[in-house]
This record gives sequence, C-alpha cells and structure tokens, in this order.
Amino acid sequence: MVNSVAAPQARGKFAEDNIFGANNRANALAKEIGIDRVINGTVGSILDEDGNLVMLDVVRDAFHALTDNEIISYAPIQGYPEYLDAVIDQCFGESRPDGFLRACATSGGSGALHHVIHNYSEIGDEILTSDWHWGAYGSMCLDNGRKLREFALLDSEGSFNFADFKAHVTAMMAKQLNTVIIMNSPANNPTGFALSIEEWRQVIDFLKNAVTGTEKNVILVPDVAYLDYSGEKQECRKFFKEFSGLPANFLVIVAYTLSKGFTMYGQRMGAMIAVTADEDVADEFVAINQYSNRATWSNSNSSAMKAMVRICSDPQKVAALDRERAAYFQLIKERADLFMAEADACGLKYLPYLSGFFITIPMTGSQAVCDLLEKEHIFLVPLGKGIRLAVCSVSKKKIKGLAAKIKKAVDAA
Ligand code: PLP
Repeated sequence: MVNSVAAPQARGKFAEDNIFGANNRANALAKEIGIDRVINGTVGSILDEDGNLVMLDVVRDAFHALTDNEIISYAPIQGYPEYLDAVIDQCFGESRPDGFLRACATSGGSGALHHVIHNYSEIGDEILTSDWHWGAYGSMCLDNGRKLREFALLDSEGSFNFADFKAHVTAMMAKQLNTVIIMNSPANNPTGFALSIEEWRQVIDFLKNAVTGTEKNVILVPDVAYLDYSGEKQECRKFFKEFSGLPANFLVIVAYTLSKGFTMYGQRMGAMIAVTADEDVADEFVAINQYSNRATWSNSNSSAMKAMVRICSDPQKVAALDRERAAYFQLIKERADLFMAEADACGLKYLPYLSGFFITIPMTGSQAVCDLLEKEHIFLVPLGKGIRLAVCSVSKKKIKGLAAKIKKAVDAA
C-alpha cells in the first residue's frame, strides 16, 4: 500500500508517459551507440535531416530583437491586443469567417483546450472527439471531472465517418445542455487525416439543424495545432469560411497554438479564438476565459507574444515565415511519401495520411511490436489501436527501409 496525502479525486493520477518514455530510451541509446544507429520516431517536433530541433530563422531573429521590457513585463491577462489581432489574422488568413471574432491568449493549444472543457461543459459531462486523437484530451477531461467520448473517425472506406459522428452528437445532445466537440483537423494527430471542405460543410449543416429551435448549445472546437504544415497556406484554411452565420447557440472555438507554426513549443503560447454570430456570446467568451487565465496561470508569456507580433506586423517577415514553413512542409511530405511508398511495396497498412507530423499503422498488440522494434533500435509510440511514427522528426535516410522493418516486427509479434 502506497501512502497518499492527495485529495481523493487526485489519487492515483500520473502523467501518461509512453511518448516521453520511449524518447528518453532512444536518447540514452543514441548516447551509447551513436545517433546514426538509432531511429527515434517519437518526437512531435520538426527535426532537420541531421537530427537537430528546428527553430525557424525568422522566429530566432524576432526573439533576439526583443527588448528587456518585452521579455520581462507582465502582459495583459487576455493577451496583448496586437497579439490577439495577429492570432486572428494568422489563423484564418484569407478565410476569415463572418461573425464576431474574439481571441484570448492561452498557454499553448493545451490551455485553449483546458479552458473550453472547463468553461463550456459541466462536471460529469461527456466531451466528444474521434477515436484517433491526441492522448492529452482524455487527461484534460478526467482532470476536470469530465469524460472523453469517442466517435469512429473513419468508415470502412477510410473516409470521414459522418454517420457515427452524427449518432454520438445526437445521443449527447439528448442528455446534456452543452455538447463540446473537439475536431483535430487538418493534420490529425496521430493519423494525418483531414476533413474535406464538403465534410466540414456536412458537419456544420448537421450541427446547425440540431441546435436550431432548441435550448441546447453546441461548442465545436477545431484543434488546428498542425495547420501551418497541412498544405498551401490559403487552401488549407478555406474550411474556416464554413463557420460563418451560425445560430447563437452554436459557438466555434478554434484551439490555436504557436508551438508548431512558430516552432515555439516550450514557450507555451497559444490562443482560443471564438467565432459567433452573437455579440453577447462573444463578450461572455472573453470574460469567462480571461477569468480562467487569471485563476490558473494568470498572464501569458510576454516574450513569445511580442516575438510573434514582431513577425506578423512586417509583411516581409511574414513572407519569410511562409517560405520557411513551406520548405518544412515539403520535407515532411517527402518523408511521408517515401514511407508510404515503401509500406505499399511491402504490404504494411497505414491510416489515410494527408499531411502533418504523424503517420499511424493500425494494429492490435502495438506494445509487443514496439518492444520488438526497440531491439532493432527503432523507437515508436504504441497507441491503443496502432503505432505512431513521427515523420516530422525522422530523416529520409532513416525512413528508408523502415516500413519493411515494421512489417517484419508486425509479422513476428
Ligand atoms: N493539439 C494536438 C493534436 C497536439 O498534438 C498538440 C501538441 O502536441 C496540441 C494540440 C497543443 O500543443 P501545445 O499545448 O504545445 O500548443
């Protein structure tokens, strides 16, 4: 029996660590036998072809130009106004939805997700997301006394499973006042799947009809953490336009982050952005989420906001940022294309990948396969229903031949 002084609701919690655990083992082995002999496909950050963590040049320059005041000042609780404008601008690009748009600074995309769960669902409620999702969603729900509910993301053809989505939403709306839906698209973690514009339209139309004339509310949360590496800048943002003209009881809150798009992972800077046709709902959004900032981490990171603003207030810097991102998007695409071509050649199945940091190989018994691969110095992340490979962080040289090695381990396990 382990002694505990934690309050009953906190007992037994621990940070689920199969990603950082595998990463630590990979790094320890690389130290011992050399980095060239280890494949570490666990890291959810962009590494270059030499295995170095990438910091975008334009972002480095912006940080180095910061004044002392910009670095150390307390920022306003909601975030600097110029940061909030820049966030809305950068997120939506040319596809700004019509309606009231409001932003609130948060601690990364995680902070945005936390506040949505905390402020838009009740204790005991279910929160809906797809079966293929980022593991932290579940912890965020449990830590807040909510429960994550899953719909099947894909149908048997590998397309968006609208029928299952609809069935889950209908069941939840029948029993809860608010239905919060987290939709991680484009570049879904862990699959690389994205809803097409038509599929987004289908989702929005259904939700609009479902809430109209009822006392119920729907809060749709597009988690766009990987947006900036999901295709041509304006093309991959077009779905945002679909959020125009919603009924007052249908609120969209975009979970936005600087972690990937600005390579500021550890700076912990993001934003939640509301899209609503109702001004009261917009004002309430600012009030309650600013309150939650104050009540949790208080002010956000001044340096990160100011560095972002330095870039976004200068069209030349934005153009440089776009060029750098486009080059890394291309690099990740080449790695993914190589992996998928080799997987096709050796008969290894993977989930429909369109863009993003990860590819998933579906299977049962993923832990046993990962254990076998680790013996070959290959470190991947075992998930409940598959294995996740981070194409953002494995060089083309190391991707070459990887699919066949995974296939061999799958057959042997
Ligand atoms: N959403 C998804 C799907 C992610 O994978 C991540 C990070 O890995 C985030 C959101 C948020 O990350 P952060 O809190 O670092 O901005």
